[in-house]
Amino acid sequence: MENKKRTDIIPRFGVPGNRREDVAERRRWVEEKTGARFEHVGHFSIDPEKTTHNVENMIGVCQMPIGVAGPLLIDGDHARGEFYVPLATTEGALVRSFERGMIAITKSGGAHVKVLADHTHISPLFQLTSLAESAAFAAWVKENTDRVRAEAESTTRHGKLLGIKPFLFGRSVVLQFDYSTGDAMGLNMITVATDKACRFIVGERKVQRWIIESNLSSEKKVSAFNLIEGKGKEVVAEATLSKELVRRNLHTTPRDMVDTVAIMRVGAAKAGMPAPNAHLANGLTALFMACGQDVASVVNCSAGFTQMEVDANGDLYLWVSLPSLILGTVGGGTGLGSHRECLEMIGCYGEGKAKKLAEIAAAMALAGEISITAAIVSSEFAQAHDQLGRNRPS
Ligand code: NAP
Repeated sequence: MENKKRTDIIPRFGVPGNRREDVAERRRWVEEKTGARFEHVGHFSIDPEKTTHNVENMIGVCQMPIGVAGPLLIDGDHARGEFYVPLATTEGALVRSFERGMIAITKSGGAHVKVLADHTHISPLFQLTSLAESAAFAAWVKENTDRVRAEAESTTRHGKLLGIKPFLFGRSVVLQFDYSTGDAMGLNMITVATDKACRFIVGERKVQRWIIESNLSSEKKVSAFNLIEGKGKEVVAEATLSKELVRRNLHTTPRDMVDTVAIMRVGAAKAGMPAPNAHLANGLTALFMACGQDVASVVNCSAGFTQMEVDANGDLYLWVSLPSLILGTVGGGTGLGSHRECLEMIGCYGEGKAKKLAEIAAAMALAGEISITAAIVSSEFAQAHDQLGRNRPS
């Protein structure tokens, strides 16, 4: 039964409703409605009109502390030299922990990093009436890929359709549209492009119904599919730490580090984790929040692998692999106030910088894996959080 009670709709003030006075008025409306007082939410330096394509019903800004960790020496194809990395977090001990890992990497000659792949995908579904029709539909798409590509690419200057891979689900067909998206993370770009392509397809081929996203591309979900296919950038970072440095800076030994990773992998397997790692989500989230990335993408991005080995001479060799790193240096939240400043601080704002940001993210993630594993092995983990991270309300 329909609830007849009057619904108090939040004031819109037209479209988009992000003028400074709209935001202030809406904030006052919420204060009145809820009894909250927005002393902090209402204080900000960004132009709210610039958030028009980032947020609706804006009432203010969420302030988040930003720490800085480094130096992080990187020898990548795009990121080269020492970086000081901005990390936005409320988790005490996180920045210090990453700093420790970064210094260990830097003292060891740096992290070697490579972007191995760069593409992203979306997977619409088409319902037909039989398996035979599904097969004929998939064959038609294959024969007409160039025409479909022209439709998709008519919506974007930077998006390029790399290919379309069909998956037959009985009388339904999922088409995985795979794109390169330049320096944008690209989710709006490829959604709009694919929508145009799908409308063209269904104009040419009769289907029962179609939907823009079947979930096969696992957007903002962890999946084995994305671990294998990749989504966004696939990046690998490696480093070798001498046994002396491991003892001096990390208070443990390469052998203990390796044994700990191995036993934690058993825990991960028992827990059913598809991608065992120590805490890849932690640094990626903090970097994403500082740099205006879509933080929910960390669900995919943090599904990665960490490996540690003892070298023949007893040193610690390790790598981190991130198969689904979805980030950008144009579009999304990258141009907003503090986000742009944080990207600029690591030389990653704008055109031609997305692979550099990906390499910095992977090297930073490697530092985090080093530090947390060492803290667990040397029994310093709880003390560090107790000392640096507790906020007992007084
Ligand atoms: P966007 O902010 O929607 O668009 C950025 C635009 O920048 C691109 O479309 C491109 O225009 C232009 N551009 C200029 N220089 C570029 C360069 N060097 N490389 C690439 N593009 C360049 O960004 P987006 O990355 O497509 O989408 C990100 C947003 O999508 C985020 O806010 C995220 O939260 C949101 N999102 C959307 C979905 C969805 O399903 N739609 C899902 C998750 C997240 P041209 O296209 O004309 O080249």
